[in-house]
Amino acid sequence: MASVRLEHISKRFGGVTAVNDVNLVVEDQEFLVLLGPSGCGKTTTLRMVAGLEDVSDGQIRIDEKDVSQLPPKDRNIAMVFQNYALYPHMTVYENMAFGLKLHKVPRPEIERRVKDAANILGLDSLLHRRPKELSGGQRQRVALGRAIVRDPKVFLMDEPLSNLDAKLRTQTRVELKRLHQRLGATIIYVTHDQTEAMTMGTRIVVMRDGVVQQVDSPDHIYHQPANLFVASFVGTPAMNLMKASFQRENGQVVGAVAGQRFVLSSRIAQAIDALSQPQMILGIRPEDVTIAGTENVSDGEATLKGRVRLIEPLGHEHIVYVDLGDEDMVVRTSNAWSGSQGESVLLRLNQERLHAFDPDTELSLFG
Ligand code: ATP
Repeated sequence: MASVRLEHISKRFGGVTAVNDVNLVVEDQEFLVLLGPSGCGKTTTLRMVAGLEDVSDGQIRIDEKDVSQLPPKDRNIAMVFQNYALYPHMTVYENMAFGLKLHKVPRPEIERRVKDAANILGLDSLLHRRPKELSGGQRQRVALGRAIVRDPKVFLMDEPLSNLDAKLRTQTRVELKRLHQRLGATIIYVTHDQTEAMTMGTRIVVMRDGVVQQVDSPDHIYHQPANLFVASFVGTPAMNLMKASFQRENGQVVGAVAGQRFVLSSRIAQAIDALSQPQMILGIRPEDVTIAGTENVSDGEATLKGRVRLIEPLGHEHIVYVDLGDEDMVVRTSNAWSGSQGESVLLRLNQERLHAFDPDTELSLFG
């Protein structure tokens, strides 16, 4: 396998800058996920690595070799797309063997590679079938098989699971992850689905408007988002983001959210020292808020009063929407909670898990 290096890569289509000065190193054997909303430049980035799109600026290196000007066939990469059109008149075996035949690989070698790939993908008993005799998931595996037999340096995958139904997608996600471990492959994977990104990626690149926002492990992307965009894009339900003001009183820093005040922990107090104005955006994930009994709350805790507006029971947990007056707070709570709509509640925020952002730059104050 191989490493891939993108150095100051940009792509312009007329007046549209689809990808803007992207710098990335994809390590050998890494499963790197490009994640972002529609139109953020993920596919264009992948197509430039494949050679299907010229770069406007910058260089692409595979194993340190500059491939920016090489045609796709000379880059030794394999692509798996969302629309993995298989040849309908060919069997699974022939579909997988086709590319190798074109490259004049000797027949015994083709047979060995197809059988190996079929074995890895659990397709051994289906080699004689035609695509129409396969399920969606099996067809997707054939498309992967076609890529595997080529023994490429790098796999490029563009939303390969998005045509599958939800159950099959989950299943194939697990298979892809196993496959990555088994092949020791370098994979660059494009998706707008944060669950795919979080569960499969060794690192995630979050993009917006052609610009990289953060490159990090899934854990850091979730727990230490670099800015408001990453914080709000990753996580379901999304992180609660609240406009907050603060002021210093008797050696403490007191924050106010939706007209309610609480003493901020020293962790937040230190972080907001850098702000030039007494305003910030506070963020807290739904699982870091608990619905507290008033009797348990002591001085200095961050609490907010509200009224339950809506409850979404999910079986193992509830998602509770609490009206704070100006805004809602979403809380993820255990199914042991037995409150009801319209009830007044007190929310306790875990201050260790509070995020704070500069309202002007939108950057995290925990840098
Ligand atoms: P999606 O998830 O919807 O596939 P994406 O993040 O992969 O989106 P790209 O397909 O890379 O986004 O597109 C990035 C931007 O470049 C978009 O604004 C798109 O309209 C524009 N774009 C892409 N290809 C072309 C093209 N051939 N000509 C002009 N503009 C293009």
